Amino acid sequence: MSLHKRRATWVRLLIGRRSPWAQFPIGQRFQMLSTIGRCRLNRDQERNESFSKGLLQGSTVNQRIHVLSAARARDMKDYMFNCCFLPPPPPGEVEVEPSSRRRGNMAAAPPKKPFLIFFDFDETIVDESSDDVVVQAAPGQQLPGWLKDTYQPGHYNEYMQRVLAYMAEKGVTEQAIRTVIEKIPASPGILALFQYLRTRPQDFEIVLVSDANMFFIETWLRRMGARQLFLKIFTNPASFNEDGRLLLGPYHAHVCPRCPENMCKQVIVRDYLARRTQERGHPFQRVFYVGDGANDFCPSLILGPRDTAFARQDYPMHKLIVEKMTTQPDDFKAIMVPWASGEDVVARLKKVVAER
Ligand SMILES: [Mg+2]
Ligand SMILES: [Zn+2]
Repeated sequence: MSLHKRRATWVRLLIGRRSPWAQFPIGQRFQMLSTIGRCRLNRDQERNESFSKGLLQGSTVNQRIHVLSAARARDMKDYMFNCCFLPPPPPGEVEVEPSSRRRGNMAAAPPKKPFLIFFDFDETIVDESSDDVVVQAAPGQQLPGWLKDTYQPGHYNEYMQRVLAYMAEKGVTEQAIRTVIEKIPASPGILALFQYLRTRPQDFEIVLVSDANMFFIETWLRRMGARQLFLKIFTNPASFNEDGRLLLGPYHAHVCPRCPENMCKQVIVRDYLARRTQERGHPFQRVFYVGDGANDFCPSLILGPRDTAFARQDYPMHKLIVEKMTTQPDDFKAIMVPWASGEDVVARLKKVVAER
């Protein structure tokens, strides 16, 4: 079955008037699709999970329906099917499982490493904000004032959707975007930190949590040969449609008053810790979080006394933690270590590994 036909099948199953799943409410169709998709897509697991978990599982059925109706069918098709390109058989139709896929389903769980380290991306791994850098690919390397004026606090993801739509209208290509993203410099010492982590694969499970998007992050990491370091990437889904437009979606819906409406990193970190603890049968010995921004402050609040929040020196995360430690010291339990270079993080991690 061609990719095009597979996509058409998914659309038909989800929203077609004569969908064989018509007897199920739309929320349940999503759930079925997401469940079957997860089972089948081990070979593209990260992309699939970032979509199905991010956009669907973290949301209530009503929010899913909202997401569905908000996206035009064609846009939605692209979000969905660039990730989940193997359609489930409609009920009543039997599909033979290729043996390789069966093997994939039985893939071993990730090994049990004692330490878990989360990374932010913008201004943590890379020394700039990728959303700012992408504007360098726009005509005149800037955005028109009317577009900039549409930004509303807390709705940055929607604003970036408009920016990317504008750039596509102006004929900015995937390659042009790729080129500017690949050129973003790493933050000081971050490549040394990556190198250190490469030498301790038995110790650190590494996860990325970012409010940038999957296209920017994967582009940059692959360029640096660092994609394989990360077991998971939690970020906003993004992929190019047939017209060459980079479509961006929200990661999930949440109710945290501190965070932008498309992403609360505390929810992501909490859910990930709970899931991995259950899978492993015991918690991580220590959890680390390396970040810089105000949205990295929220997840640092759930770290425990054995955990470490690495906050970039004098950036918002650092300032917010210092403020919290001053005004409500009981509410911040982790150890806070400011960093100016990734080498500062390496020094601390070496100490922790030696103390173990
Ligand atoms: Mg950041
Ligand atoms: Zn939050």
